Amino acid sequence: MPSRALVTGAAGFLGSHLTDRLLAEGFAVLGVDNLSTGSPANLAHLANEPRFAFQERDICQPFDPGPVDFVFNFASPASPPEYLRLALETLHVGSQGTENALAIAHKYGASFLHASTSECYGDPLVHPQPESYWGNVNPVGPRSVYDEAKRFAESLTMAWHRYRGVNTHLVRIFNTYGPRLHPSDGRVISNFVMQALRGEPLTIYGDGSQTRSFCFVTDLIDGIFRLAHSEEHLPVNIGNPTEFTILECAQAVLEVTGSSSALTHASLPQDDPTRRQPDITCARTLLGWEPKISLRQGLALSLDFFRSQL
Ligand code: UDP
Repeated sequence: MPSRALVTGAAGFLGSHLTDRLLAEGFAVLGVDNLSTGSPANLAHLANEPRFAFQERDICQPFDPGPVDFVFNFASPASPPEYLRLALETLHVGSQGTENALAIAHKYGASFLHASTSECYGDPLVHPQPESYWGNVNPVGPRSVYDEAKRFAESLTMAWHRYRGVNTHLVRIFNTYGPRLHPSDGRVISNFVMQALRGEPLTIYGDGSQTRSFCFVTDLIDGIFRLAHSEEHLPVNIGNPTEFTILECAQAVLEVTGSSSALTHASLPQDDPTRRQPDITCARTLLGWEPKISLRQGLALSLDFFRSQL
């Protein structure tokens, strides 16, 4: 019998890539998604895959997927415009939805991996960010619906590990991009690439000096797959430590797309973190993992997808 995994948020960007990796590793996968931000198109290529099944459902309602060996909890709005639009839903899926997923792992003795985030560090005062840093989060600002939902989900996951004995894992995901990143969900890479391909100006929020560190999706999924099979229960950062200002990111997009789009400035969203870079010492030592694909390589690998979305 192959291992069987439940992937919540399977129709999302990361959930669908994780599903592909699990199937490639011989797993059977049940994907669930309420399609609030995910898209069936991300799973369309699996229509004839006998080891894959899909259910449209909201994990905030308890459900029983049958016996599973792994639960990967990836259900949540994740781009800033989407979690601001779906504020209460984001809080609910991080709390009630995540507890329902933990209860499934407990019932079937499954390993549980929760998709957490670099947003747990908020606007970090420590740079780069090691897992031991507790973060600098505004608990009542607009972004708090996402940040605090993810922080609560980490606490909940640790409690189910400590008090109910579930074999849990927490991955803190840094900015990730690649094919299937929704072209209009407002993230910087998808915005810039779509703008560059359309010949429109690239929208730099603020002065563009804020930084992010961008990981290509297959690198990220490899780290997550390794973490799910590890003995580590505390959070592990997975991300690419090469840091770019948003202006440098715009320059890379112009280069790779060959676009001559101009740059235009727009206002900086409230509480937008000024810098972000993962310290990946833990991932290197515990998982033997590090990213392989540079930003320019990853952008080139993503172009066919974004062109298909024009
Ligand atoms: N950003 C930008 N232009 C855009 C979209 C985003 O300058 O069209 C900036 C945004 O203000 C932030 C960074 O790019 O500083 C990353 O934003 P994103 O929404 O991708 O993710 P975040 O890391 O903020 O969750």
